Amino acid sequence: MRVAGKMLATVLQHVKNRAVKGMSTQDLADRAAAELKTLGGAPSFLGYQGFPDVLCVSVNDEVVHGIPSKLNILEDGDIVSIDFGVTWKGMVTDAALSFIVGPADPKLQKLLNTTERSLMAGIDKLKAGVRIGDVAAAIQKVLDEGGYGIVRDLVGHGVGHMLHEDPNIPNYGHAGSGDVLKAGMTIAIEPMATLGGHHVTQDSDGWTIRTADHSLAAHFEHTILITEKGSEILTQI
Ligand code: MG
Repeated sequence: MRVAGKMLATVLQHVKNRAVKGMSTQDLADRAAAELKTLGGAPSFLGYQGFPDVLCVSVNDEVVHGIPSKLNILEDGDIVSIDFGVTWKGMVTDAALSFIVGPADPKLQKLLNTTERSLMAGIDKLKAGVRIGDVAAAIQKVLDEGGYGIVRDLVGHGVGHMLHEDPNIPNYGHAGSGDVLKAGMTIAIEPMATLGGHHVTQDSDGWTIRTADHSLAAHFEHTILITEKGSEILTQI
């Protein structure tokens, strides 16, 4: 998972650094596929429950699970969320990040920065013996203070032998509640925050999740190993 996670982080940065207006979301997925091919891993999302591509690309009011398309062209100011999975020797990792194309509106940049900060606040809580509610409450606190909507219908999860494993890791909750996390567990934490409410809807494509009120959304995710004294982020370079 360490090897897979490094490949994954490399691909996400590669795609983010090359995304400019005029490219299609399909171009981003094709770049992710090509970059991963040079690194040697396998794309975990391709074919997962029938997902048709290697990368989820979700733009503006799309929260997660956007399907890449040649018809979806990036414009300056768009929020682009890219979610990727890498499998290496049978082990799976999962991570995502959001970025803004071209010059960034400060209000949108703050949404992104705060969502990433909420992810790190959740990760900072991790160590053997911590309860899932402790992690969830730490994420929620950062996003509540920012005044953002927290998507509830989708949550973080265990990951490793499969893309989605137990336990669920919600982005809201009460400290002191929930199952106890143990050293050696690997989980994906993935806060999704909006400039509006927390309700989401699914498009008729069967995949794309967008905000019900069409407010803009951000998504950050890491795969993390829990250790006795803390944690290790596996999906960073
Ligand atoms: Mg995930």
